[in-house]
Amino acid sequence: MSTAANESASHTTASPRPILRPKSKRWGGTIFFKVEEIVFEAPRSRFAEHSEVFETMFHLPVGSDGAVEGRDEEHPIVLEGYQAVHFDSLLNVLYPTPEDLISGILKLEKEEWIGVLNLSTRWSMKKIRRHAINELSKASLNPMEKIALGREHEVAKWFREGLTELVSENPIRPLAELKSHLGADIACSLLWVQNQTQAILGARLAPTGLSLGMLGCFRCQAAMFTNGRNCVSCSRTIAVDDCSALHIPNGALSTYFHAEDPASGLTQVTFRINLQHLMCRACSECAFSLTSYTCPSCSQLVSYSIFELRLGKNGIENGSAPQKILEEFGEEIARYEAWDEK
Ligand SMILES: [Zn+2]
Ligand SMILES: [Zn+2]
Repeated sequence: MSTAANESASHTTASPRPILRPKSKRWGGTIFFKVEEIVFEAPRSRFAEHSEVFETMFHLPVGSDGAVEGRDEEHPIVLEGYQAVHFDSLLNVLYPTPEDLISGILKLEKEEWIGVLNLSTRWSMKKIRRHAINELSKASLNPMEKIALGREHEVAKWFREGLTELVSENPIRPLAELKSHLGADIACSLLWVQNQTQAILGARLAPTGLSLGMLGCFRCQAAMFTNGRNCVSCSRTIAVDDCSALHIPNGALSTYFHAEDPASGLTQVTFRINLQHLMCRACSECAFSLTSYTCPSCSQLVSYSIFELRLGKNGIENGSAPQKILEEFGEEIARYEAWDEK
């Protein structure tokens, strides 16, 4: 079934491509490094290719005794203040093996990627650093790790994410844990940010109160209750717009931050509420049965523990902890962001 289109297609693919003559590959000779007590031997080319630090180092003048550093095992370039395991991981990235190619991935453990990140940052190996950050981002880092690694290796994205995730936790971690992992300064700033966010929301809810109509579906944000209902504890009828019938004790809300919208640069903030904590003012007991409810808009089942507070536009603007984090930690974040612009 040969058609004109087929013919022209096969003609295009068959059109001869000029075969490029191979260029001779240069490895720049072997170089010896000593890290801790271990001597490593490697081709020199990719160190110079990926890092100006090595490029410069390799062009240093010959020592007074005439021996060129790094030329042989007896005269290695001594890399002080680095870890041999880190260097070993970096070598695996600089010189992958045929096995790596066949398996399709360069298999390094999380700790090994951290080593690669450490050295690529210190030696300004930009491409390799970017790759290590991508690999580690896939390895689900917890907020404490994000903050610690973000600071140590100047990764603005992790530092910011970690801080935002930590203030969103409810309840927030014990002060001792925050202090021991982050230091008193950061712990104090974080608690302040969390306090501000909750206080702003509390101040908003206090005068207006909370009505049934403000309880939303976390999937589609529509109102979960469109009619009044009875308190399950005292059977009192609660109208859908009655702002005085319910109250939320302190700390019953969780704050959630959604991924930043790259177009507007805004981070969406929502508040989740567990109906278990929502009290009837008349009887001071929980007003709801602890079960799942069907959303009248999207028909999905929504568990009593993950209702979303519908605050409208103002609520979202007010609950801006990411903004407060920028105010508190902006200088440090900017410093880390500058790394990749170097
Ligand atoms: Zn009641
Ligand atoms: Zn819904």
